Amino acid sequence: AKDEGGGEHYRYEPALHASAEERRKLEFSLRHAIERGELLLHYQPVVDAIGENVLSFEALVRWNSPEHGFVSPVKFIPLAEDTRLIVPIGQWVMEQACTEATNWPAHIRIAVNVSGEQLIEPDFASTVVRALAKSGLEASRLEIEVTESIFLRDADVARAALEEIMALGCSVALDDFGTGYSSLGYLRKLRFSTIKVDRSFVQGAANAHPESLAIIRAVVAMADSLEMSTTAEGVETAEEAEMIRKLGCKKIQGYYFGRPMPAADARKVVRRAPAL
Ligand code: C2E
Ligand code: CA
Ligand code: CA
Ligand code: CA
Repeated sequence: AKDEGGGEHYRYEPALHASAEERRKLEFSLRHAIERGELLLHYQPVVDAIGENVLSFEALVRWNSPEHGFVSPVKFIPLAEDTRLIVPIGQWVMEQACTEATNWPAHIRIAVNVSGEQLIEPDFASTVVRALAKSGLEASRLEIEVTESIFLRDADVARAALEEIMALGCSVALDDFGTGYSSLGYLRKLRFSTIKVDRSFVQGAANAHPESLAIIRAVVAMADSLEMSTTAEGVETAEEAEMIRKLGCKKIQGYYFGRPMPAADARKVVRRAPAL
């Protein structure tokens, strides 16, 4: 029976090769995506839970590849992280996002996702300084979003890099909170401005799962006492927004208030938004 198992391998392998081959092709294309102008940013509004005023936009990278069509960041960001292409891509995102934000009223901030691989580069802080200088954006208008995964490897290096950009005046949000390795220790050591509660909890709470409700309530209470803010991610309906408000989250982000949109549309949104 063991030998016949080889037949199973034989059936299985082509699929494995196909995905490795696809990965190789994607990587090849991704290497040239910046210089060919195939990357662009979309911007998703974050609103306050009370008045629904736009507080900030999160920059989300998009890749429109002539060879592969539209590739989701869920697919190409991990590939970029594995190949270190995330470093030049992340730098491009940072500069592009800071530059676009200078077109908005000064009270509206820009949030940029940063991977652990970027953060542990020795010159990470200087790429942030350069993006701010090039764009003329005030440091206080830039928020960096990191996930708990940055603390899995090189935690001290990651923490030092975040402290360096905090010293510049930028703020740091903890993204996808509760979905990964839970870094409660780091909540004590690092002054995050915001904890972003993952969409899975929002969904769970909307479906009246008592665990999700309890967790959101506890995260909000903890954030309040640490003088951090909370953002609920992935709010899709009026009911979810209402529930999140009742739970005391300070900020809301999700399709209900606005999908990630091209820069031109984000500019129209801020023009309609009342000044705070
Ligand atoms: P994320 O940082 O957690 O971003 C939120 C994701 O949720 C985005 O997916 C956004 O489009 C989506 N989303 C927002 N509101 C809703 C909603 O109401 N319902 C649902 N179902 N989804 C919602 P997107 O744009 O596909 O990005 C996926 C992930 O890729 C991001 O997750 C982030 O981890 C990564 N990513 C995107 N842009 C960048 C970047 O510039 N740099 C890095 N390092 N990672 C990025
Ligand atoms: Ca994010
Ligand atoms: Ca998130
Ligand atoms: Ca995520």
